[in-house]
Amino acid sequence: MKLCFATNNLHKLEEIQALLGDQFELVTLADIGCNVDIPEPFDTIAENSHEKARYVRDNFAIDCFADDTGLVVDALNGEPGVKSARYAGEQRDSNDNIGLLLNKLASEQNRTARFLTVITLSLEGEYYQFEGSVEGSIIDDKRGTNGFGYDPVFVPKGHSRTFAEMTMQEKSELSHRGRAFAKLVAFLKAH
Ligand code: IMP
Repeated sequence: MKLCFATNNLHKLEEIQALLGDQFELVTLADIGCNVDIPEPFDTIAENSHEKARYVRDNFAIDCFADDTGLVVDALNGEPGVKSARYAGEQRDSNDNIGLLLNKLASEQNRTARFLTVITLSLEGEYYQFEGSVEGSIIDDKRGTNGFGYDPVFVPKGHSRTFAEMTMQEKSELSHRGRAFAKLVAFLKAH
């Protein structure tokens, strides 16, 4: 069965293709000729995730799924949230984003945060959503070089290393995206 994963991130594609096995043939946005930056106009991760899947379904008539993720920091009333990628500006630079985040938290005692991923699947005309989250805290300085985004400053609850100090496999076993993808894979395999 052919399914579009609404991403051009080949790393994410490879990861989920391995979980799904060869019963499903995954294609990317580039593969279906979708070269636009799909708009994310809404205030919630769930709505933006749904919008990406809807856009692909309506414009390319293919079954698909889309993921959207945000870092939710309690002391900042949920920021950066839906703005996670562009927190410090349109350049979408992780170092700039982390810099801004640490500045805003400089005098904060409460460092609790979570990553939230929502995957929307559009299948045979129906929409389904799968959520995954991981609780943790934001540390004062960057540690580690693996991963991407806010990984160097996020320590998952019950652990002492940041996501950037873990291997990809360690991270995906406890990460927001790993948990949401596991639900998607279970659903697709049972379908
Ligand atoms: P996206 O929806 O997967 O593109 O994620 C939006 C933004 O959230 C990314 O640009 C990153 O800044 C951040 N982000 C998403 N997933 C992760 C993660 O696993 N670790 C660290 N940051 C992440």
